[in-house]
Formats: sequence, structure tokens, C-alpha cells
Amino acid sequence: MTEQTINWAELKEALKKVDKSVVDCKCNYEKFIEWKRIGREDLASLVLLGKIVDFKNKSHLSYTMYKWKQSQEEPMALGYYPYGGCNVYQCADCKRLFFYYVEMGGHAVDLNLRLIREELLVFEAPQ
Ligand SMILES: [Zn+2]
Repeated sequence: MTEQTINWAELKEALKKVDKSVVDCKCNYEKFIEWKRIGREDLASLVLLGKIVDFKNKSHLSYTMYKWKQSQEEPMALGYYPYGGCNVYQCADCKRLFFYYVEMGGHAVDLNLRLIREELLVFEAPQ
């Protein structure tokens, strides 16, 4: 079985379909302006589009995690961890898109979700 993937062009295309007129959506997108830990049940209302590929794979390198304090304005640097290896999920209602990744900790597994905002997407994180 091949893994479902999504590339840059497909991601941009999907972002065009977001229906910003839908507010108060069941996906609670406004909660995910910055990275937020979730439970598996939070994924239930979302549809998996695929794993991010095509971004000169430096996904083993973390950029944003160290150079940026986690914030609402943290760039989504697609060549870097965690964005490079993220799965992209979509809300079936408003079509908003989310980055999702799993962080393996010592004794816990953290599931993380962040709303994708086109204006924050970059290949290389700014210096
Ligand atoms: Zn939604």
C-alpha cells in the first residue's frame, strides 16, 4: 500500500477551496491558530488528504521549534520539521486545512494540530 501524499501544488489548490464564510464550524479551527495538542477523537471530523512531500527533504531539521517561540505567527516552514513530515487533514464542512504530526515522547505520544494559513507557508524559514 502506498502512502497517500500531498504536494505543494495540491496544497495550494486545496487552500483555494476553503470556505471562509463558514464560521463556528465543528472543526473548531480557531482553536488551532497555533499548535495544539489534541486527542484522537479530534481527528474524527477531519479527512486525511495525505502526507506532505516534495519539500527538499530537510524534515529531520527543526527550524521553527528552536528559532521561533511557538506562536500564532510562527512560519510554516515546509522544508523543516515538523511541517515537512506532517499529514494534512481537511474539515469536511468548511474545507479548512490542518497540519498534523505525532511527537513521540519518552512515555507519551503527543498528537498536534495546527490550522494552515496560506500567508504563513514558506519553503525556507526566514532568518
Ligand atoms: Zn470546519
